[in-house]
Amino acid sequence: KNDQLDQWDRENFFHPSTHLAQHARGETATRVIKTASGVHIEDRDGTKLLDAFAGLYCVNVGYGRQEIAEAIADQARELAYYHSYVGHGTEASITLSKMILDRAPSNMSKVYFGLGGSDANETNVKLIWYYNNILGRPEKKKIISRWRGYHGSGLVTGSLTGLELFHKKFDLPLTQVVHTEAPYYFRRDNLDQSEAEFVAHCVTELEALIEREGADTIAAFIGEPVLGTGGIVPPPECYWAAIQGVLRKHDILLVADEVVTGFGRLGSMFGSEHYGLESDIITIAKGLTSAYAPLSGSIVSEKVWKVLEQGTDENGAIGHGWTYSAHPIGAAAGVANLKLIDDLNLIENAGKVGAYLKQSMKDALSAHANVGDVRGEGMLCAVEFVKDKDSRTFFDSADKIGPQVSAALLAQDKVIARAMPQGDILGFAPPFCLSREEADTVVAATLRAVTAVLG
Ligand code: PLP
Repeated sequence: KNDQLDQWDRENFFHPSTHLAQHARGETATRVIKTASGVHIEDRDGTKLLDAFAGLYCVNVGYGRQEIAEAIADQARELAYYHSYVGHGTEASITLSKMILDRAPSNMSKVYFGLGGSDANETNVKLIWYYNNILGRPEKKKIISRWRGYHGSGLVTGSLTGLELFHKKFDLPLTQVVHTEAPYYFRRDNLDQSEAEFVAHCVTELEALIEREGADTIAAFIGEPVLGTGGIVPPPECYWAAIQGVLRKHDILLVADEVVTGFGRLGSMFGSEHYGLESDIITIAKGLTSAYAPLSGSIVSEKVWKVLEQGTDENGAIGHGWTYSAHPIGAAAGVANLKLIDDLNLIENAGKVGAYLKQSMKDALSAHANVGDVRGEGMLCAVEFVKDKDSRTFFDSADKIGPQVSAALLAQDKVIARAMPQGDILGFAPPFCLSREEADTVVAATLRAVTAVLG
């Protein structure tokens, strides 16, 4: 074992989303991951773990896919980099743009490539502002997002994110971002409300926000088809249709943030089709390359594209570009990844095994006194813990039930699930290639971990 790595790590490496002081004091050990295959990762000590969160819900096709590795290596040997500015492109990036549009909803028109989900959402906001400036309504600029939404960690995207941790001490959110109610039926204030009544309440809240701010100041609404980092919360059945009705009435664009749901995680190619959304812009990242290389995209609809195009006739080239936009290595990974998803029928597997995982988790855990909710959609699943089942009281946040259960799961059965950042929620988002046997392993391990922590 290379103990020097521990020291170098502590002394030099600024880890994201980490308790910095604890790490510097050596209180949290860094697990150095060495290799991986299928749904398993292995650390440098040879410990093998079942990764039921696919990294950060991104390694959708599973680890160790040689087809993607080869495509990346071939691309690097042939052409590691060229930019895509003003009349340049590469075979991989142009092919990938075609493959994305072939899979996207039919009202979509073009894809702008970035590196990660945060910069893609940053691009979206800029495009929306550009769009409204061209249309001669410079005051229509605010973006509505939901509490518990996750859209990234930049200045604008961290503002869009509706989680306190991402705002506190960063002077966020920026004034151009306003938040509305999340479609979190399990956590509704009034437990007597039906799903339809709760959706009506969400609509009333949204209408009231638009009224307060003025519809002529609001450009867009951004939402994940299924709330992810905010707790893995599928919306009530009629939620999206009702929200879209309000947005249309007030001429507000809809941005579907499909960084998690895009390319199959719900058992459908896109969350937009899964829930019947007519999105104006779709954000893609993670599953585009299954994280074999960084790449993201903003897919813009024909409606938005037409206006942007017209703007450049008046103003010259659009002043928005990244050096690594459409990076050929990311694009080659994307092409190989999307092919593999088709060839192995992985979206169908995500739908079927995901439904099996959710049902098995329900069967195993629903009767437990501290399991308030087991929910999911496609290959996304969550277990939410409560102190008291009837009143749905939260545990004291100092109890850290979510983190405790996830730690027990790891220690006892070497299964990785994620303690979601807000509330006592254990999240699962395995690779799409998860088998039923592996799903059984995850469920049995979760039951053991819950019993170990909560009795
Ligand atoms: N949008 C959603 C829905 C996400 O889940 C994430 C990351 O988890 C992002 C955006 C940000 O993506 P990235 O971390 O690649 O910047």
